[in-house]
This record gives sequence, C-alpha cells and structure tokens, in this order.
Amino acid sequence: MYLLRKPILALSSSTAVRDVLTKAPLTRSVVNRFIPGSTRSDAIACVADMHGKGLQVTLDHLGEDTLDEADATATVDAYLDLLSELDRRNLAEGAEVSVKLSAVGQALPNKGHAIALDNAKLIATAAYTVGARLNLDMEDHTTVDSTLEILRDLRVDFPDTAIAIQAMLHRTDADLADLVHEGSRVRLVKGAYNEPATVAYQGPEAVDLAYVRAMKILMNGKGYPMIGSHDPRMIEIAGHLAKQAGRDKDSYEYQMLFGIRTDEQIRLAKAGNTVRVYLPYGADWYGYFTRRLAERPANLLFFARAVVGR
Ligand SMILES: Cc1cc2nc3c(=O)[nH]c(=O)nc-3n(C[C@H](O)[C@H](O)[C@H](O)COP(=O)(O)OP(=O)(O)OC[C@H]3O[C@@H](n4cnc5c(N)ncnc54)[C@H](O)[C@@H]3O)c2cc1C
Repeated sequence: MYLLRKPILALSSSTAVRDVLTKAPLTRSVVNRFIPGSTRSDAIACVADMHGKGLQVTLDHLGEDTLDEADATATVDAYLDLLSELDRRNLAEGAEVSVKLSAVGQALPNKGHAIALDNAKLIATAAYTVGARLNLDMEDHTTVDSTLEILRDLRVDFPDTAIAIQAMLHRTDADLADLVHEGSRVRLVKGAYNEPATVAYQGPEAVDLAYVRAMKILMNGKGYPMIGSHDPRMIEIAGHLAKQAGRDKDSYEYQMLFGIRTDEQIRLAKAGNTVRVYLPYGADWYGYFTRRLAERPANLLFFARAVVGR
C-alpha cells in the first residue's frame, strides 16, 4: 500500500486531476469525512461538539500555496473572523489555530517571507487577545528554513506559538535540538509531503524509527510535546516515554485529524490525556484531501466507489 503514496501525491498536483475531482458530483459528501464543513458556522459547531466529547481543537482555514497577496489577506481575515466568533461564543480559551504559511503569503515572489511573517503576527495577536494560540503547520521541505525563522520571530512576542515538525526529514533531529527548551510547543508528525530521498527517509519503517527518535528527544526535553499521530504503536510508545521521563499528563498532548480514529481520540481523552483534534474547514479542500487519500490508499477506493457507484 505504501507504494501508492508517492504516485497519488504526484498525481494530485495535476490540474486535470484536480478539475475532475473537484467537479465530481458526489465529492462533497465524501470530502466531509475529513472536513467538517466549508463555513465558519460549520467549524464553530464542530468545536462545540468536540468540547462536548472532552476534546480540544486546532482549527485550519483550508488553503495553501497562494500566489496572490489579496488571497493571503483574505485568509488572514478569515482567521481573525473565526477567532472573534470563537470568543463571542466562549469557545476561544485554550483553542489553537493552525496556519499554513503558504496560505498567508510565504510562496509569493520576492517578499513572501516578510509578508507571511507580518500576516502570521496579525493572527497571533488576535489569538492571544482571546486566549487562543497559533500553530504553524509544516509544508514541503523547501519551506522549512523560512518557517523556522518565522517561528523564532513570532516567539519573541508570542512564546507559546507552536510548530509542526516532520519526523521523515533527515534534518529533524538537529532542528529539534533548538526546540526543546521550556515552553516550546512542538507537534511531531510523520510528514505528509512527497519528499525526495535526498532529504527524507523513504518507507514506513525508516519513518517510524525516525518518529520514535524524535519523540525521545521531545519527551526528554523541557518543552511541551504534541504527538500528532494516529499510529497505535507511536501512541503507546509516547505513553511509555512520557512515563520514563517523569512527565505528568498535563505536560504533553496527543493530536489527531478530524474523522480519523475518532474512538481512539475519545479513549485517550477519557484516560485523562489532553487530545486536540485538527479541524480543517473552508472551500479550498483539495490539497488537504488528497494528502489524506495518499496516507491510506483504502480511502482512495472508498472515494472511487462513491463517485463511480452513484
Ligand atoms: C494533528 C495533526 C497535524 C498534522 N500536521 C501536519 C503538518 O503540519 N505537516 C505535515 O507534513 N503533516 C501533518 N500531519 C500529517 C502527518 O504528517 C501524517 O501524514 C499523518 O498523520 C499520517 O501519519 P500517522 O502518524 O497517523 O501514521 P500512519 O502510519 O500513516 O497511520 C497509522 C494509522 O492511522 C490511521 N490513519 C492514518 N492516516 C489516515 C487517513 N488519512 N485516513 C484514515 N486512516 C488513517 C490508519 O489506521 C493507519 O493505519 C498532521 C497530522 C496530525 C495528526
């Protein structure tokens, strides 16, 4: 099954494939398995539902790779609007927003890095004002240096800004050395992008070993590890490592994506762990959705059956 991951990720960047998938009549109902909705109201309703189940949230306004400054500004506005509505409904305290820097300008030519930093500051300020926090998602390996630099700048004023780090990248152990200080919030994920062997481990065994190595660094450090995985083995090992390191349950957390292993999310929360669910919402779902298909080709079958069998 792993062999299908790269072709699916490669195929998904074709505009012809994008056109077919986004126009398929049944797509929306299938997409909803991973995305609670396209509007702010859908997202807010989902936050309330998660809280009812004892789960925390991190919200992602879908979009990435924008090459238009006005689109980047519109994304910032969507986050500001979301944060103010969360506040109005008393749902902001303890919530997180997850931002892809390429959605707020990082990929723009020339001044992309500076624009993304300014935009991220606007979102971080709004989040702090209502008792929420900002998390920077990590995108493909070409963006890592810029994203880490923006993180360092943001943490000057917003020290609990979190960052996603991808275990699959060769550079990760070295990057983590700078991210294990007190208060440093790090979401460890395996990595969802189609990366070449020059920069990333290939194949599930090598990535899993790298993930365990990175968990050890985080759990033995002074920061706040956030275990972003649905993998039962990684979750079990995280629990053991936390115990070995003498950590209380409030000194780390688990994170999973909306719609994936929902029972496990609730089981972990009932056992006294903090569990945060990643809630993506919005109209620009294509990139997020195809990464979910690539992670588990069985999802592709489910999707194809829904389209063909209608
Ligand atoms: C909260 C969160 C935030 C993330 N943020 C980022 C980010 O910023 N950058 C980035 O590159 N990646 C991100 N990811 C994605 C991550 O890199 C992996 O691609 C993804 O989590 C799958 O890896 P896994 O650890 O769950 O293990 P896997 O070995 O892929 O999966 C383990 C098990 O989980 C279940 N599962 C996993 N994925 C799916 C799926 N799509 N559909 C159905 N079941 C599934 C299956 O039961 C599978 O056997 C994030 C993941 C999470 C949970």
